[in-house]
Amino acid sequence: MAPLITFDEALELGELTEHDDILALIERAWEARQERFGDSTDLCSLVNAKSGGCAEDCGFCAQSRYAEADTPMHAMMEPDQILEHAQAAEAAGAHRFCMVTQGQGLSKRDFERIVEGAKLVSEHTNLKRCVSIGHISPTRAKTLKEAGVQRVHHNVESARSYYPEVSTTVRYEGRLRTLDAISEAGLESCVGGILNLGESRRQRVEMAFELSEIDPTSVPINLLNPRAGTKFGDRELMDPWEVVKWVAIFRLIIPGALFRLCGGRVENLGDLQPLAVKAGLNGVMMGNFLTTLGAEPADDRAMFEGLGLKVARQPDNGANPRPDNRDGWLEGSAPATPIDELIDSQADANFWDPSTQLRVIKKKGKPPSYPPRPSEAEHEKQPAGWGD
Ligand code: SF4
Repeated sequence: MAPLITFDEALELGELTEHDDILALIERAWEARQERFGDSTDLCSLVNAKSGGCAEDCGFCAQSRYAEADTPMHAMMEPDQILEHAQAAEAAGAHRFCMVTQGQGLSKRDFERIVEGAKLVSEHTNLKRCVSIGHISPTRAKTLKEAGVQRVHHNVESARSYYPEVSTTVRYEGRLRTLDAISEAGLESCVGGILNLGESRRQRVEMAFELSEIDPTSVPINLLNPRAGTKFGDRELMDPWEVVKWVAIFRLIIPGALFRLCGGRVENLGDLQPLAVKAGLNGVMMGNFLTTLGAEPADDRAMFEGLGLKVARQPDNGANPRPDNRDGWLEGSAPATPIDELIDSQADANFWDPSTQLRVIKKKGKPPSYPPRPSEAEHEKQPAGWGD
């Protein structure tokens, strides 16, 4: 779907600082959201199924071997453990569940565990299934689809022009090839990035227009939660009004995507989280993030309900990967799906919990320095980790 504003308009909106002007922008974004999605929502949750000790150099990530931060580790989860965390996400009211692993790609054995985990989640919950497992080949994409996975997450992280500052070992071109494999297999894509890595306002706009070109089903935006000892660990949090402004601008540039806020939303937005929903979100990530803690399920549901949006479980979660598109939804025929027996607090279910499940390992000696920005030609080479 074409952007509702031009590149230059987006740049101008990016300069807004007065709260009244930002509120007017938010009203515009809210109308754009309502027109396309009505009162539907798309709430997700994740499990960090394999963490830490990653060979790559993504500058925001504490799992990188280049970070001076302690390493948040755990080995690849067993499929039934993945299912337990999925059941907690379902109890909280999440519509979909993402199985996430570190690194550019999985070994054959770890990939098989993800496939088995996805099958269990398909069989035993009413959740839609997503994975985020680094680069995947066309063959693996097909295998995931056959296992019941509906959507694959693979971020571009930042504007293409800024990307070499973010990672040199995970190539942007490789990301695009993975997105092609996802689309060829008939899977939905979830593609976004992180704001506040040091990119300029222009580069934020570039990123939004690049996402519009990629045209993913879902766009997750993270807000840097600076981790001490990482490349971007000394950056300040964003001003919450800046965040809501950029949420609204992204919504106007990518009006047809399911747009959600994920990591860093609690720390960067504080009390302005409901205003971010008004600025055009379809959902948030419920429960906890990969290595940091999130919000309580009842508070997240209340943010959406406060704006008259439906957060109820959807009875066809397993069959219809994108319920907002089903016939009749926008004409007011959303099925009656009463919320029963949803939990309010994370303490009431076996959520993925990085504060207890990650083993924090001190690095032995000084980690290697982050590699310098590569040349353009170097950056476009065939990605590593492309095998089956
Ligand atoms: S590939 Fe993933 S886990 Fe590894 S450093 Fe990059 S973001 Fe972190």
